[in-house]
Amino acid sequence: MNKKKSRQKRDRSEKLFEKAKTYFPGGVNSPVRAFRSVGGTPLFIEQGKGAYIWDADGNKFIDFCCSWGPLILGHANPKVVKAIKTAVEKGSSFGAPTELENKLAELILSNNKYIEKIRFVSSGTEAVMSAIRLARGYTKRNKILKFEGCYHGHSDSLLVKAGSGLVTFGNTSSAGVPEAFVNETIVCPLNNKEAVKEAFSKFKNEIACIIIEPIPANNGLLLQDKSYLQFLRDICTENKTLLLFDEVISGFRIGFTGAAGFYNIKPDIITYGKIIGGGLPVGAYGASAEIMSHISPEGAVYQAGTLSGNPVAMAAGIAQLTECLKKGFYEKLEKKTNAFVTSIRNQVSGIKIFSIGSIFWIAFTDKEKIQRAEEIDGDSMKHFRKIYHELLEQGVYLGPSGYEVGFVSEAHTEADLKKAGEIIVKNIRKI
Ligand SMILES: *Cc1c(COP(=O)(O)O)cnc(C)c1O
Repeated sequence: MNKKKSRQKRDRSEKLFEKAKTYFPGGVNSPVRAFRSVGGTPLFIEQGKGAYIWDADGNKFIDFCCSWGPLILGHANPKVVKAIKTAVEKGSSFGAPTELENKLAELILSNNKYIEKIRFVSSGTEAVMSAIRLARGYTKRNKILKFEGCYHGHSDSLLVKAGSGLVTFGNTSSAGVPEAFVNETIVCPLNNKEAVKEAFSKFKNEIACIIIEPIPANNGLLLQDKSYLQFLRDICTENKTLLLFDEVISGFRIGFTGAAGFYNIKPDIITYGKIIGGGLPVGAYGASAEIMSHISPEGAVYQAGTLSGNPVAMAAGIAQLTECLKKGFYEKLEKKTNAFVTSIRNQVSGIKIFSIGSIFWIAFTDKEKIQRAEEIDGDSMKHFRKIYHELLEQGVYLGPSGYEVGFVSEAHTEADLKKAGEIIVKNIRKI
């Protein structure tokens, strides 16, 4: 791994990581933070402001991880901070309804024609897990169909990866997931109509839902054609199977109505997370009023949460989404991102930068398109690891894995992007 001594001071991060390893498995509370795929010691972050973060040794970075997506306004946006302070001073949780829940719901539902009712939970994983239960409860079917190369959080039914063959019951991608769960999850490759057709002919009237990241952004950025998503919509309708868009990353990122709005395709259930909570733990799932009426206490599908709709988190979400709704917000963000990405593209060869909205992904490849997990070149990760540490040394912070996408926030100025672009170009040229 990266044994080379850093030119930056890293003493405090290293000390904190040693200590953390005595408290947490692998020294972290979420695995990818441990830097295993790039090697070296994770930086402990002390502070963030706008497009910048500072680590525990005082090093400053332009941040493209943005907490893995939630921070579309950048770090410590003054409006979000103020909303959080105002809310928390009135009490942090009641376990009873508050007006703030109504306000966030109103903000979302009145600007999103794809869902009529919503339920707030506390993470993306929880949103997806609950939405799957809803799909099963609503259709009275057990099987679900997912795609290789999409991530949907860590609930049992979804920690399943493809086995061998086009349509498979996968293998678990985690110890501790019973075989019985795996047998209810069908795994297909992305961008492959035949596989999905075969699944429907094999399991007629058994599939409760197809779940997909309509903009798959957790295993590289595997942009699908609109015609493929439309095909999924149609085959679901024909088979009375629900189409579930997992928009935990793409929701409020690719425009306010996410991928559903971008492609103008209406799924039956949508899950949200990340941006929706303004940097605090919020997830949500939404659907038509009719489908949502199956959720408890109205319906028979049970789902609950002590901290669901937490007032402080709701306030942060309201403050953030209010900014997102301002005229030109997404256009400006996309324009800035395009300029950044295009400038890098024009100056280097041997790589591709795929992007959509304010999401980008650097891939070391000559391929024009990468739409399936298996099309990602394994060597790409080796190259990524090499440039990763150089970028850190020079003050650019990306998520610590070549499979992770980067995010541009409202706080990134053209000067920040120009500077980061130059550093990225310089280091790609070296390899
Ligand atoms: C991040 C993510 C999740 C999981 O959300 P958590 O808040 O980490 O539990 C699920 N689905 C998608 C598409 C995601 O990007």
